[in-house]
Amino acid sequence: MDLVEYQGKQYFARYGIAVSPGQVANTVAEAEAAASRLGYPVVVKAQVQVGGRGKAGGIKLADSSAEVKEHATAILGMNIKGHVVRRLWIEKATDIAKEYYASFTLDRSAKLHLAMVSARGGVDIEQVVEEDPDAIARLHVNPIDGVTLEAMRDLVERAGLDEQALDGAAELLVKLYRCYIEGDADLVEINPLVLTTDGEVRALDAKVTLDDDAAFRHPEWAEIENMSVLTERERLAKSKGLSYIPLEGTVGIIANGAGLAMSTVDMVSQVGGTAANFLDVGGNADEDGMASALEVINLDPSVKAILVNIFGGIVRCDEVARGIVSALDRVDITSQIVLRLDGTNVAEARKIISERASEKIISELTMLSAARRAVELAGAPKPQGGTEL
Ligand code: GDP
Ligand code: MN
Repeated sequence: MDLVEYQGKQYFARYGIAVSPGQVANTVAEAEAAASRLGYPVVVKAQVQVGGRGKAGGIKLADSSAEVKEHATAILGMNIKGHVVRRLWIEKATDIAKEYYASFTLDRSAKLHLAMVSARGGVDIEQVVEEDPDAIARLHVNPIDGVTLEAMRDLVERAGLDEQALDGAAELLVKLYRCYIEGDADLVEINPLVLTTDGEVRALDAKVTLDDDAAFRHPEWAEIENMSVLTERERLAKSKGLSYIPLEGTVGIIANGAGLAMSTVDMVSQVGGTAANFLDVGGNADEDGMASALEVINLDPSVKAILVNIFGGIVRCDEVARGIVSALDRVDITSQIVLRLDGTNVAEARKIISERASEKIISELTMLSAARRAVELAGAPKPQGGTEL
């Protein structure tokens, strides 16, 4: 799960990483109250799970209550790359001397952790990678060895941080590594990591992704109000126990089992289409699970066709078919559904579908033909390619 900035900073603070004092505000009045408690100047910051808030106008300095009011009014409700701002973080403003970048993440291909530090912070790091890859100093970290203060000192020096910032940045990176490992994060990123005019090194932004599989050993994660920042679709999927990941395409996908769901996503791209999501109904491919899955996909405005790919092993196909039929009664599904069902009780399932839901549902016998049909319906250029399965 991705944390928003203030949650990330609260996570950092537990590990002793310096952050600025601040307060959450859900309304303009709360923003003004928070600012007067913190003292001016403050920064009014949109809390959405997407970068580039500054450029989009979601980060504003305010010198007075009137300015806080003006900025909070403008930012609350603002749409930043598809994320509507519902919450603000009011933070005591920092006097910045320099902006840097620092992160730890997992380098899956190297099977090691990767630290990245750059003296070019505050800007989009992808852009730095493109324009000037040498501006980023990298260090692979073996999880068994961990990091030392010396290694971090060397890294920040290699990255070209200013002399004044070296000790503070190295110490902060040691803490950040602990936060990343003990905090079970997949990513901790600070952009910008700043050197203040007082010579202190501090995290001015926070991007933290927690490893959901470690939730069992972090009862405190329950407090992180993640639900409030999920989209309606993600919230619904989560509450129904569906494993749902939105993607950028137009073909909505429902499959049972992560493997089958991934193959379905692959097959859609293989025939020239794009998947709108990954959705694994898992062991919930029964009536209620199928209805919920269709409801979730139906909430996605970019979906132009739905591809349902179910293999009935433990779950019986007739139950799946009944689920689809009942979902059609329950919700007004806007897109056409292409259905590929196989496995236990498939004959009965086909009968149910042809009797009760024929015009909304197109049945196909193979994964490939189903993918082609769905891509065609989604309006992608002529589908081709693929291997018959
Ligand atoms: P992002 O645009 O979503 O990455 O949001 P950030 O939290 O990184 O803020 C964007 C930029 O706003 C930073 O790079 C800073 O230049 C500026 N900014 C944020 N907080 C402060 C602050 O306390 N003081 C000053 N002077 N600038 C700030
Ligand atoms: Mn940032």
